[in-house]
Amino acid sequence: MVIILSAEKGMLNGSAVIFGLLLLFSIVGSRLFCGWLCPGGAVQDYVSSANNRSWNSKGKNLSKYIIWAVWFSFIVFLWVHNGPLKGDFLYLVNIDMQYIIIYAIVMTVIYLFTLLTGKRGMCHSLCWMAPFMVIGEKLADLLHIPRFRLKAKPDDCVSCGKCSGNCPMGLSISDMVKSGNMDSVECINCLECVDGCPKKAIGFGICRKRQ
Ligand code: SF4
Ligand code: SF4
Repeated sequence: MVIILSAEKGMLNGSAVIFGLLLLFSIVGSRLFCGWLCPGGAVQDYVSSANNRSWNSKGKNLSKYIIWAVWFSFIVFLWVHNGPLKGDFLYLVNIDMQYIIIYAIVMTVIYLFTLLTGKRGMCHSLCWMAPFMVIGEKLADLLHIPRFRLKAKPDDCVSCGKCSGNCPMGLSISDMVKSGNMDSVECINCLECVDGCPKKAIGFGICRKRQ
């Protein structure tokens, strides 16, 4: 909302810069932000103690891209319409009751949506930031840039299923390990599967996409 209010005034504000930096970071760091820093992610991981159901399918994951496309197209339209843009990183940054209320409403929506859907339901279906990082990952793969990835050792896996049970995104990791392909745009690089594997069959590192 702040990025839209800024764009209406022809301003390139701090959140626009941060979204751009997240995209750039994901070219090498994949979705480490989602797994380790996102406050919305922390709220969802807390909620998973009340609803631990998996919420992951192509259909459920698609809606965030539609939300992102509508939202970002509108912002680009405002930038073009109100340009040339002036940069002000701290534009609209102040402790104002209306922003505190909006922040509380957003956090409540994340809490309730995840409670009703399941594990990281908001990341799968609503998050308007995730597509920036998915674009970064795809860009890295297209340009053969090494980025943060999980690595599997299929021969060490005993199919206990602990990794799939631990995954906050509800991914079928044991199947991914068996196939030897750990690439998934829904993976948030939290490394729960790495920590929980009794056979150390999952590792991680920075490398190029498998050919
Ligand atoms: S936790 Fe490890 S051993 Fe168990 S299924 Fe997953 S990768 Fe295989
Ligand atoms: S696959 Fe592993 S690193 Fe990726 S989200 Fe699931 S538990 Fe986290």
